[in-house]
Amino acid sequence: MRLLTPGPVPVPHAVLKLFSEPVLHHRTPEFESIFTRALSGLKKVFQTEQSVCILTGTGSAAMEAAVVNTLSPGDEVLCVVSGKFGERWADMCEAFGCHTHRLEIPWGHTLPLDLFEQALRQHSRVKAVLTQVCETSTATLHPVREMAALTRKHAPEALFQADAITAMGCLALPMDEWGLDVMVAGSQKAFMLPTGLSFIGLSARAWKAAETSQIKKYYFNLRSEKAANAKNQTYFSTPTPLIRGLDRVLSEMNQKGISQIQARSERLSEVTRETAAELGFATFSQSPSPSVTALRMPEGIPGEAFRDWLETERGLCVMGGQDQLKGQVLRIGHMGDISNDDMRAFFEALAAGADRWLKTDRHSTKWLSLASSVESRLKKVDKLFP
Ligand SMILES: *Cc1c(COP(=O)(O)O)cnc(C)c1O
Repeated sequence: MRLLTPGPVPVPHAVLKLFSEPVLHHRTPEFESIFTRALSGLKKVFQTEQSVCILTGTGSAAMEAAVVNTLSPGDEVLCVVSGKFGERWADMCEAFGCHTHRLEIPWGHTLPLDLFEQALRQHSRVKAVLTQVCETSTATLHPVREMAALTRKHAPEALFQADAITAMGCLALPMDEWGLDVMVAGSQKAFMLPTGLSFIGLSARAWKAAETSQIKKYYFNLRSEKAANAKNQTYFSTPTPLIRGLDRVLSEMNQKGISQIQARSERLSEVTRETAAELGFATFSQSPSPSVTALRMPEGIPGEAFRDWLETERGLCVMGGQDQLKGQVLRIGHMGDISNDDMRAFFEALAAGADRWLKTDRHSTKWLSLASSVESRLKKVDKLFP
């Protein structure tokens, strides 16, 4: 099965091989050196001088850690809700007793800055602004750099918190330079590992807020984690094989330059949007992301049946739409160890599937005429792991 979903993503062979090595104990010098190297490698990717923590848990664990470590019950927060993951963060804030304002925008739309500024003026007492960098359910980017600056201007006390789970590693997000206070990422996206680890970076202001945060927490106590990390330890035990894999990926990323995986995601997404458009599948989002693309289903093709067919008949795992987008879009990820072969198989299947449902042969003919130019464009950017 070819995994072309926006997480989990294909794991490079070199990393899979590490998982077959004997398990290390987490309180050993051998593991300590791997762990501390991984922590400093993460700081480079986050582009921050502050501590970044590794949590055992999926991406949502770090989203929860962001809320429970920086806020108190009754705090006002402003959540940008533009899809499933925005809803999740707003729901979490509510669950922990924050007074939650939802800035709802239509799915597939990027956040208009004037609307955002208006909301900040109206809620200038908020203690946090929470948003996705890329809302994965709609494959849409938000202008976080500008949003962080506006937050600083209109709600100076607020911490700007960004779920960068499908953004970190795929686009430039210099945390310190842009004044991003809390950044969250997950192992199964651009970090090309299995699901199970999440990462969270806090600015100096956010670490300060962690000292007074009143929301109850135990497992996701970032101050305890940070204190343990200062002694080269994890607070609890940790999945050492995943950390070993992380260390390997990070050293590759930092050696070859994070720009290389960014360039590859960028290229894969461009080629996907353009080729799919030629085959009759338009891009759904107003502000498409380099990490994931949502393609609109052409008239007359049932989205869910099409997705199932790709999986069972073509061995291609992609995601469909959720909730209001059910049956209307296909979502394809551009993170992880995706090969040019995977992309070719996907385009070929897209064309064949369209012909199958529309009872034509023009899509496949079109693909034949495009294949070699697509191939040469894909070849221009190397993979992180050859
Ligand atoms: C994948 C993803 C998450 C995390 O989901 P988990 O299933 O908890 O790993 C959160 N936010 C976004 C934007 C995502 O793409």
